[in-house]
Amino acid sequence: MGRFKLKCLKCGREYGQEFRLTCENDDSFLRAEYLEKKLELRNQPGIGRFHSWLPVQEELTTDAGPITYKSEAFARELGLSNLYIGFSGYWPERGAFVKTCSFKELEAYPTMQLLKETGGKAIVLASAGNTGRAFAHVSALTGIDVYIVVPDSGISKLWLPEEPTESIHLIRMSPGNDYTDAINLAGRIAKLPGMVPEGGARNVARRDGMGTVMLDAAITIGRIPDHYFQAVGSGTGGISAWEASIRLRDDGRFGQKLAKLQLAQNLPFVPMYNAWQERRRQIIPELDMKDAKKQIEETYATVLTNRAPPYGVTGGLYDALVDTDGIMYAITKEEALEAKSLFESLEGIDILSPSAVAAASLLKAVEAGKVSRDDTILLNVAGGGYKRLKEDFNLFQIPPVATARDPDMPLEELNI
Ligand SMILES: *Cc1c(COP(=O)(O)O)cnc(C)c1O
Ligand SMILES: [Zn+2]
Repeated sequence: MGRFKLKCLKCGREYGQEFRLTCENDDSFLRAEYLEKKLELRNQPGIGRFHSWLPVQEELTTDAGPITYKSEAFARELGLSNLYIGFSGYWPERGAFVKTCSFKELEAYPTMQLLKETGGKAIVLASAGNTGRAFAHVSALTGIDVYIVVPDSGISKLWLPEEPTESIHLIRMSPGNDYTDAINLAGRIAKLPGMVPEGGARNVARRDGMGTVMLDAAITIGRIPDHYFQAVGSGTGGISAWEASIRLRDDGRFGQKLAKLQLAQNLPFVPMYNAWQERRRQIIPELDMKDAKKQIEETYATVLTNRAPPYGVTGGLYDALVDTDGIMYAITKEEALEAKSLFESLEGIDILSPSAVAAASLLKAVEAGKVSRDDTILLNVAGGGYKRLKEDFNLFQIPPVATARDPDMPLEELNI
């Protein structure tokens, strides 16, 4: 018996349980429709709790999963009475065991499981760092082959809390190439026989894995939060939170109002912020990301620098912002660093740079009156606990198996 089907958001065409990224009629997103309309928690320690709304047959048994807690100190500093932190990272004192320290790990488990269940042998993806680390970790745990293309700036982020395995194939791109160049090269490698492209935001397992942050929050709070704060590069996490809100609304027990997306990018690279300021569905490169490569080099939170985000596509971030009456913020490095030290000293855990951007946007929202004191707010701290992890684990750097000079080089020369 099938647990879910895939449905095109534009033409309505339905597909069975496969690893499918696109509709045959158009370029819209597909969305998973689950047989279970009510969220029934499973008796699993981590993300497997949310099996109802994950596109896999077998329950995931990992202890890694999102956690949610009510903030005291940071909330008091901001004058908020219902601030909840969704934390994806390593913080054993609070029951958080995401050892690659970001919510990318939440997408890696269901994606690799779906790949396995649909007969796929090897998955190919591009990463600015955090996604690659997450998939490498799950590859080390499961033995499933992954090919990961990473720009030089992301290579230092490719560490593991265990010994790297032969199943991990890390391809480094030489300096001068950015994350989007890595996406282009990965796209070409994925066309080789036996390879399956991970698909980014088009991958429903990725989106529904990330969406568990919203599910965990709704379970903890007892309702859908009024506001959802996150820093975005591709916007996939925002789309996922929106889709999870819709499922929770349809469930009926968590309220009828979707969470308002309040999303942040990091200056100077803020293409989605710019397009959304003008309520445009299209990102216009000359207007919204002039001198993109230079801007990207100057951006503090490099994980947030995607030049081709799934913004205008049907079912993408623009639709999510429209549907939730969303707001976007542009945050400076200084604002992010200030919010980082404030959050870390008050909450007692270290956070990654994108989460500092998210925390800074919450400070801005409070100042600008975009949230009220008693609103229920979810701040998605999508990455953290790296310093905490290093107290408990030895970390291993993953060695690259090849270096690519540019995204168009002949693949035979790569020798992977
Ligand atoms: C990837 C990442 C983001 C941005 O996620 P989107 O895919 O743009 O939603 C934010 N924070 C952290 C820690 C990340 O790893
Ligand atoms: Zn379609």
